[in-house]
Amino acid sequence: MRRLPHTRQFQLKILRWFAKHRRDLPWRRTRDPYRILVSEVMLQQTQVERVVTKYQEWLRRFPTVERLAQAPQRQVILAWSGLGYNRRALHLQRAARMVMKEYGGRFPRTKEELMRLPGVGVATAGSLLAFAFGKDVTSLDVNIKRVLHRYFVGSEFPDWKKNDRWLEDLGNMAVPEGKGHDWNQAMMDFGSLVCTARRPLCAICPLQKNCRAYPKILIDVKGKRKGWDRVEPGPSSQPEIPNRIFRGRVIEALRQAPRHSLAIRKLAPMVKKDFNEDDARWFDGIIGGLEKDGFITITKKQDTQIVRLL
Ligand code: SF4
Repeated sequence: MRRLPHTRQFQLKILRWFAKHRRDLPWRRTRDPYRILVSEVMLQQTQVERVVTKYQEWLRRFPTVERLAQAPQRQVILAWSGLGYNRRALHLQRAARMVMKEYGGRFPRTKEELMRLPGVGVATAGSLLAFAFGKDVTSLDVNIKRVLHRYFVGSEFPDWKKNDRWLEDLGNMAVPEGKGHDWNQAMMDFGSLVCTARRPLCAICPLQKNCRAYPKILIDVKGKRKGWDRVEPGPSSQPEIPNRIFRGRVIEALRQAPRHSLAIRKLAPMVKKDFNEDDARWFDGIIGGLEKDGFITITKKQDTQIVRLL
């Protein structure tokens, strides 16, 4: 890919902005790939403020990749409480086990090998390369992607005009030489504090002059916000709850239960208040999926099915 216009100004302005506004976050004080992986996985679907507390608690419990790999799975699921998307906890432990088994406890240093670890995609691999190993590559997390697209390509509405591969090449090219570590932090902060998804602060943005999305983006996000903010009226319009919410409730109920196990007939109404026999098949699917994914076991005691956190 050839260098795009205004790349140098883009770099200078982002770095200048970062020098004044950088956030001091606990995972930014380390180069330990294990700690960086923990923070990245937690941040995938959870707000920064919540992650700050959970990250520190987690490291007190599992301070090294070895300790996480050796821990019983149930302890890992219990420790993940409050973060949601429990599958991430399983991935994290499986990744730790793989690092111990296949790499003797040392994280691999290539994108391809990192992406073999469970739960590690392009963005997390890029973060590990930049933050732990100081490589000049982009992380391409959701904030970075948005900033790149808006500044160099234009508004992402109604559709993104460039795919991830193109944006990754662009992102790699935009990293200032020798600054991969700080650059990715700067871009992440800029995307979450200035060029945000819903309310970009174009009026005070240092990139405004050469940004290809400005000013159209302000009209686009305003139109889109109506959809984002809409609350459906009326008692019959309760939005459908996705199954991942019910899966999360099953795990949460088992976390709280004595010996982390419950009979299915007790569990079902805890997960869905108005549970009735029409829901039985659907609930079997939820429980079966969790068993298949390795979260729980189901055993039979006389006529009762018992669900237990693994
Ligand atoms: S001008 Fe607006 S859209 Fe463009 S980079 Fe700045 S905040 Fe983002």
